[in-house]
Amino acid sequence: MTKENPFAVAQHQLDVAAELLGLDEATHEILRWPLRELHFLIPVHMDDGSTHVFRGFRVQHNDARGPAKGGIRFHPNETIDTVRALASWMTWKTSMLDLPLGGAKGGVICDPRQLSQGELERVSRGFIRAAARFIGAHKDVPAPDVFTTPQIMAWMVDEYEIITGEHEPSVITGKPVEIGGSLGRADATARGGIIATREAAAHLGLDLSGKTAIVQGYGNVGSYTHKLATELLGLKVVAIGDMYGSIYNENGFDSQALMSFVRQNGTIVDFPESEPLDEPLLEMDVDVIFPAATEGVITGENADRVKAKIVAEMANGPTLPEADEILFNRGIYLIPDIFCNAGGVTVSYFEQVQNTYGYYWSEAEVNQRLETKMVHAFQEISQMAAKRRIHNRLAAYLVAVERVVKAMKLRSWV
Ligand code: GLU
Repeated sequence: MTKENPFAVAQHQLDVAAELLGLDEATHEILRWPLRELHFLIPVHMDDGSTHVFRGFRVQHNDARGPAKGGIRFHPNETIDTVRALASWMTWKTSMLDLPLGGAKGGVICDPRQLSQGELERVSRGFIRAAARFIGAHKDVPAPDVFTTPQIMAWMVDEYEIITGEHEPSVITGKPVEIGGSLGRADATARGGIIATREAAAHLGLDLSGKTAIVQGYGNVGSYTHKLATELLGLKVVAIGDMYGSIYNENGFDSQALMSFVRQNGTIVDFPESEPLDEPLLEMDVDVIFPAATEGVITGENADRVKAKIVAEMANGPTLPEADEILFNRGIYLIPDIFCNAGGVTVSYFEQVQNTYGYYWSEAEVNQRLETKMVHAFQEISQMAAKRRIHNRLAAYLVAVERVVKAMKLRSWV
């Protein structure tokens, strides 16, 4: 097993939980693999007159608790195994938050930064044409993920509705509010993670106000994490990284100014009130680190050098299993991804509920419901971790896996 393969990591995490739960072989086997996968080609007419054939995937890992749910990534390094891992993590995430949903993920191998708006729209619509029969409000509900946006969701829901001839807004979440999106969805992943961080600090007896943090990644999740960590927790985010480099300012950064700089320049690098960071971002001597980029960044190699008290996993799969053990043994408090970044899918679920009602909530109402969900899940993880004397990821897995197993047993799948 290579731990660099995210799907091997996801299977390993499940295996450890399955052993503690004493799962029988058939139950364990179903949970190790996706129930269904769709692999397809998306031929797209490019602006220069050529035709480029993109590869796409949609993986439904498990839908025992409800329709499969999870985002679509547009990424140059996308692989089927990454999508499988992310689909599995969605099953545990929706279960952890006790949402009546399963887990899925999709991906297209492409680099959206190299595509024109028209090409991006044709890739998005092509994805839906290929996957239309596989997805559905009661089957599998996509959403945004890395490099996909509310605009892309708008094209996707439109294409789906053209195919079916009916309005069906709850087939896709993370839509713009004007066409059925939910207020509060844009910053929901970050907001959920900030609530989780606040609860973790209270649990540890730490006052985070005026303390320091770093954020790795500056997409939707990273940028809102910066903003809300500052506004809601009083944290000073002294360093931020993206795929082009890292910036430092001992006094922190103005989040409005940085967000508009990134909109114009496509990167945080060379932001005026900053200097380049000359040490590894995740190893900085700060109180909280927020990995909000991609998988596999905290490894057996660098986990020993992490100095933060809290690791809040805003990304999916940032920590490898050997690093989990190292951080736990060193007393570093890790908030696991399947809980920490679950605010996004939780508000996606609220979006579906509102779409189904045809009646929309205020932003304050959405945020309040998110707060209730996150605090409750935090307590479940804390109790399990204390009872079994295990790390938080394993505790979260025990809670989440057990719920999925119960649903499968009630359905007599196993
Ligand atoms: N892509 C997000 C995640 O990884 C959100 C998924 C959703 O809203 O369905 O949790």
